[in-house]
Amino acid sequence: MNTNVECPRCGQWLAVDAAGPKRIACPRCLGEVIIHDAPQPVVPLDYATTAGDVNGELRRDLSAAIWGIAAFAGLALIALLGFKYQAQIHLRDAYIVGWVAFATGLIALGVLMSHFQRRQAAATGLPFQLRTRGERAASILVLGVAGVAFALVSIVAAAIAVFVLLILTCGGALKGI
Ligand SMILES: [Zn+2]
Repeated sequence: MNTNVECPRCGQWLAVDAAGPKRIACPRCLGEVIIHDAPQPVVPLDYATTAGDVNGELRRDLSAAIWGIAAFAGLALIALLGFKYQAQIHLRDAYIVGWVAFATGLIALGVLMSHFQRRQAAATGLPFQLRTRGERAASILVLGVAGVAFALVSIVAAAIAVFVLLILTCGGALKGI
């Protein structure tokens, strides 16, 4: 693997083999150049600033992810509790909160895992897509809509479960006659 070192004497940049000898003579001024075990990669200045921005971008990504998770939990909770009070269903709020917390935990796991995969890719220099402000807003919106969709699916599933239970108990009662 080639690496670049600067000659401390004349300032000439030299491409050297990182696995090669640790001390070489500069071909320009014959000064001694020491190659350190962890050579500093030569990073062009414009790329260096982008690398700094990558961390800022990832921070913004993380806060968007957290806002998205909060949107999911908040809207799912509002939709389910709203439905409960509208339909005057007697169910303890704690069950609804627990159910939403369980789903939010799963969503948070997925969202944060994908975020830290991107972060890992950025840290190891693998290519990864930076997100625009619009994409971040869209991801929060999508998670909010998913929260409402989750509430609707929960209501439908609960209705089906109640219906099936009703049929089963009716069937049992009819058999008993
Ligand atoms: Zn030199």
